[in-house]
Formats: sequence, structure tokens, C-alpha cells
Amino acid sequence: MLPELVYRTVRSADPKCIGKFLWNFAFKGMVSVERFKRRLTRGDYFPPFLYVSIINSCNLRCQGCWVDVEAERSTIDLAAMNRLITDAKAHGNTFFGILGGEPFMHPELLDILAAHPDCYFQVFTNGQFITEKIAGKLRQLGNVTPLVSVEGNEIVSDQRRGKIDVYDRTMRGLQNALDAGLLTGVATSVCQSNIDDLLSQSWLQKLIDRGVHYCWYHTYRPVGAKMNQQLALRPDQLVRVREFVTTMRARMPIAIIDAYYDHDGQALCPMSTGISHHVSPYGDIEPCPIIQFANDTISDKRGIYETMTNSGFLKDFRELSAQATRGCVVLERPDLVKDLVVKHGARDTTVRGTAMKELEEMTPRFSQWLPGREVPEKHWMYRLAKRHWFHDFNAYGNTPAAAAQKATDLQSQL
Ligand code: SF4
Repeated sequence: MLPELVYRTVRSADPKCIGKFLWNFAFKGMVSVERFKRRLTRGDYFPPFLYVSIINSCNLRCQGCWVDVEAERSTIDLAAMNRLITDAKAHGNTFFGILGGEPFMHPELLDILAAHPDCYFQVFTNGQFITEKIAGKLRQLGNVTPLVSVEGNEIVSDQRRGKIDVYDRTMRGLQNALDAGLLTGVATSVCQSNIDDLLSQSWLQKLIDRGVHYCWYHTYRPVGAKMNQQLALRPDQLVRVREFVTTMRARMPIAIIDAYYDHDGQALCPMSTGISHHVSPYGDIEPCPIIQFANDTISDKRGIYETMTNSGFLKDFRELSAQATRGCVVLERPDLVKDLVVKHGARDTTVRGTAMKELEEMTPRFSQWLPGREVPEKHWMYRLAKRHWFHDFNAYGNTPAAAAQKATDLQSQL
């Protein structure tokens, strides 16, 4: 798998883009995780991976989206992003996930990327604003990879994303990125309506034939104002996704990302481990994108490092969710999330103001934590990378008390 992946990447991607990826992301990313580990030894939790939603607006209306896309536009402007990134860089961070809404609707996105040539940015996008001209500018910068979300075939895409012609418009943007020689990925939130189409070797082959370099299989999180719980995966399907990902990593010449398992297949939550936290389009510092409550903001004069490392809200969230589950505390224990929000008097960071009501309406369900059904990595490269730079960083101490009961529940549902 690896020689073919390297060969087709070198043949298709722009050398500057490959150089920036290897230096700003791979090498300096590794160093930033090592610095994170050193901080942990003195109890300082500042994530090496920050995810920032720079705008709320979007041209699509996806089921399960938690962002107030129809609300008045709010952006994190260039000056505020420069302050945030510069402070984070001072503590070794070089990677930033850029989300929205739709980031390419932000008028200063290219300026933000250009202002930090020593960093690497992954832009989560629906691809529909990536014109040939924009793609050309991204190639000149080289420090950015578009991660284009595809949620199904033509029919499913229109249904899931609430507009027409979604698939074709997204594919046009994806092709512009690939034609420009950008390292480009495709993301899917796997759910009932696309699991058979997109969790398949034939779909991966289509992506490879198109020139896509990597993909990311998220699992659908039924949250937000339009949560559509029917789309969520059953436990047997969650096991199927994990089996598929580890098998295809060893077989297909395309890189496959996940953020929920270590090298032994042990589940983890990036928020609980402290490896990532999120900033909303309003500058609120949230435990993760779908926990829309906060006590801290990026406008705090102390800067993002001091604000995050001194946040009792974030600390409590990490520790208590890690005691309760190795999985997603929002899906498995919405009651615990509610308790933490009430305990800290945290603000609802949504414009719609219904985040607490949504939490109360959630049905607890399985997430990535499937005790007894762990699937270890099958390919040495993923085992090596995760063993050293993506695991639970001892966030879980002993296995959460719920493990035995969880395993019994799981067995009854498989
Ligand atoms: S709480 Fe859930 S959605 Fe948030 S980072 Fe953890 S696993 Fe992911």
C-alpha cells in the first residue's frame, strides 16, 4: 500500500504542498505533540490541535449540523486569528483545523493562511467555493489541505444537505483542488443513508482514481437543531466501520484518518485526552465542536494559552467525561454533559439558544467505545504513528467503571 500511495502522491501533488505537509505538519506536528506530552507532566493542558470555526454561515443546510448557519453572519477576523495562532505557535502548535459553517465563505480565509506560512491548515469544506482561481492561490501558499465533505451519491447528498445539485458542485470543487496539485482529502460522516455506498472498497477506488490523497470516516453524531437520530449507526455498524478502516488502511493506496482509536483499537475522545478543543464562530472556547457551551473566549486578554490552561470548565469536562467513558460523552451521557454545564454555569454558545433543550432530548446511545470489540491497527505505519503521537495520553487511568456493563449491553445488541 505505502509505496503506491507515496508514488501517486509525488506524481499528483505540487512539490511545495508536499514540502509544507512534511515539514509544517508531519515533522513540526510531531514536535508539537511531544511538547504537549511535556506540558501534561506538569498538569498544563493546551491542545496541540486546535479546531477553529471561523464563520457560521454556509450555503448548505445539512441534517445533523450543529452550527447556526441561518443566523446573522459571525466571523473570527484576521486580527483575532493572528492573535490566536501566534499565541498557540509560541507554545509549539503548527497545525490548525479550520471549520465553519463554510470556511471558504470567509472573506479573509486566504489572508489567514498566508499570514502563517510556517503552519499547516486543514480546511473542512463542502468544496463548492473552490474555483480554479482559489485552488491556484492555495497551491501558491502550499500550507493548506482542503478536506471536502461528501455525504453520499447525488440523491443522498441533496437529501442530507438540503439543497439541489450538491454532489456535482462539490465534485467540481474537489476536482479543482486536485487539478491544482493540492493534497486533498474527502470526509464522510457515515450514517444509515450512506454506509453501504461510501463504506466500500469500490468508493475508495473511485477516490483513488480521481486522485484523492486521503479520506476521513467520521461517524454521524445526531446533535444540533436538526439531529435526525434515525441516521445514527447501530453498535454492529460502528464495529463494521472500524473493521473496514483498519483493513483498507493496509490494502488501499489512500491514507485514512480517524480520531477515535489508538494503535490497539482502544477507543478515545480527543476532548477528554486534551489533544484538541474547539473555538466557535463567536470566539467561545468549547470542549469540542458539538459541546456548545463555554465559560471562556478568545477575546480574553490573557491569550488562548493562559485562558485554556486555567479553564476549570475544560478541566472538569476532560476529567469527568474520561471517568464516565472512553467514548463520546455527548452521545453516551448527555445527562453528565448537562450536569457539568449547570455546575459551571456555562453559557449556551448558540444563537438559537436551544443547546440545553437539544441535550435533554438526546437518547443515550453507543459511540466509538465498544468494550470487547477493540480492533487493533493492521498496518505498521498507523501502529507506529498512533503508539507515539495519537493515543489516550493516560487520560483514562483505569478503564471507566462502566466498562463491564457497557460490554454486556453491547453483546446484547450485536
Ligand atoms: S465529546 Fe464526542 S464529539 Fe466531542 S471530541 Fe469527544 S468523542 Fe468527539
